[in-house]
Amino acid sequence: MNTLTDRDHLVITGSKDATCYGYCAACNKVHSLSAGNSRRYALELMAELEKNRRIDFINPDPEPIFSTDCLWKDRGGQMFGVLEGIDKNGNIVLLRAFSGQFNTCWQVEGWVPPTFDLEGYNQLLPNIDSSIQQLTGEIEHCQQIASQCQIRFEEAMGSGSLKAQKDCRRQMKEALKALALAKKKRRSYSRSRMTAFHDLYQLHNFRGEQRSIREVFNENRGIPTGSGDCCAPKLLQAAARMKLTPVGLSEFYFGKENKSFTRHHKKFYPCCTNKCQPILGYMLCGL
Ligand SMILES: [Zn+2]
Ligand SMILES: [Zn+2]
Repeated sequence: MNTLTDRDHLVITGSKDATCYGYCAACNKVHSLSAGNSRRYALELMAELEKNRRIDFINPDPEPIFSTDCLWKDRGGQMFGVLEGIDKNGNIVLLRAFSGQFNTCWQVEGWVPPTFDLEGYNQLLPNIDSSIQQLTGEIEHCQQIASQCQIRFEEAMGSGSLKAQKDCRRQMKEALKALALAKKKRRSYSRSRMTAFHDLYQLHNFRGEQRSIREVFNENRGIPTGSGDCCAPKLLQAAARMKLTPVGLSEFYFGKENKSFTRHHKKFYPCCTNKCQPILGYMLCGL
């Protein structure tokens, strides 16, 4: 088994010139993809974004929600990506992606869809929200009972009645037990829903495999929020599903710089360390 140092070394040496890379546990090596010609297509996309100031440019009737004005507001800009792929007849196919949602939309015509199952997500989310609300209500109810018991117990202490004190102590014990149980119920529900949510991310690779992000994420820490939503995994997922062979991938930032000043307008960046690298080794496997 590799130590983390061996793996880090593999990642550092295997990622030279790569825009997109990650360690693949199945092959015990780093798979990577470089920019290739995609950089040129990415520059074209930047020019289109600047000229049209919206992302629904294939639509003759612009919708205000798809205007790029939101990329210059407080929230800051966004990452965009381009993949150059070859189809089975040898034709070049270009795919475009925006990271995460664009102005609250997961899906926009002309752009690759999210990596996860959007229909499943739309069904899962409202149920989770209402169940969590109900479980939180139960916790609040138990908290109220526990504090009422506390007041009654203090009164009983003042009255000097031993029987009343004993009764109150018993009631309080029961109330605290019910509170702990309600909290445990909400915790285990959240955990199970998180698993269901992660299973909506069925990641494809170029060996024709398909696996949940839970099985793919190859670092011993929780899967960060937004893992699978960056441009690189979105583009690779779409390419694998369309049976394209990716030959280049580029990601750039567009809009107001982010709060930590690590992302700047029209600059290119390699795949991110936290959310992408732990899944990209698997996703690039088979290329
Ligand atoms: Zn990323
Ligand atoms: Zn592999």
